[in-house]
Amino acid sequence: MDQVSTRQLATWLDNTLQAERFRDYCPNGLQVEGKATIGHIITGVTASQALLETAISRGADAVLVHHGWFWKGESPVVRGPRRQRLATALGSDLNVFGYHLPLDAHPTLGNNAQLARVLGLEPDRDADGNPVTCGPEGLIWLGSCPGANTLGDLREKIYKALQRVPLIVGDPQQKTGRVAWCTGAAQGMMEAAVDAGAHVYITGEASEPTTHLARETGTGFIGAGHHATERYGIQALGDAVAAQFGIKVEFVDIDNPV
Ligand SMILES: [Zn+2]
Repeated sequence: MDQVSTRQLATWLDNTLQAERFRDYCPNGLQVEGKATIGHIITGVTASQALLETAISRGADAVLVHHGWFWKGESPVVRGPRRQRLATALGSDLNVFGYHLPLDAHPTLGNNAQLARVLGLEPDRDADGNPVTCGPEGLIWLGSCPGANTLGDLREKIYKALQRVPLIVGDPQQKTGRVAWCTGAAQGMMEAAVDAGAHVYITGEASEPTTHLARETGTGFIGAGHHATERYGIQALGDAVAAQFGIKVEFVDIDNPV
């Protein structure tokens, strides 16, 4: 089995995802340093205690996730679940890599690109072939949904592809037209999608005001699950790591109804 040095992998990931380009809510990259060489990685959406324990039980050298640790606004003290997670990682020399916005935004490996692939969304492209985006950091993608003419059709499509019932605000008969999407908890960015001319906005989560914004602008809203919409970027990134370095990479889905 091939191996890669932790340092080399960190550099490759940082470069591939252009991690330094983003102003994020957490540090991106190697968040907790473990052993110096890596031959086996567990990928997942979130570096939860359950994911760490699965990684250790399978003999992995690293976890690579979308939701890592050390979020802005969190208390920095090392107590409770945070102490437990750190003790687990450090006690097993497990490396923890986290990439948040850089993994949402990547034009091919990212969550938005991969959600489009999974749902059959057709991104709008500019003259250079880059996806047309809007909103903060260009995180919202714009395009269409061939084969789903109404909000109801799109709901069906999402239900089948993601295996969960999405939350819908709007009339199932309304036309989909221009679709905007941003994985995760991007309900707060819906207005940017409306301003960009979207008829439907797909994200992971909803908040109470989301309903009113959808109703008052006539925009269809779909909350398809934070976890459910963010399972695909990290898998694409894992496949790219495996192809690049010939190491073993396994995705572990720790179910999350939110
Ligand atoms: Zn997220």
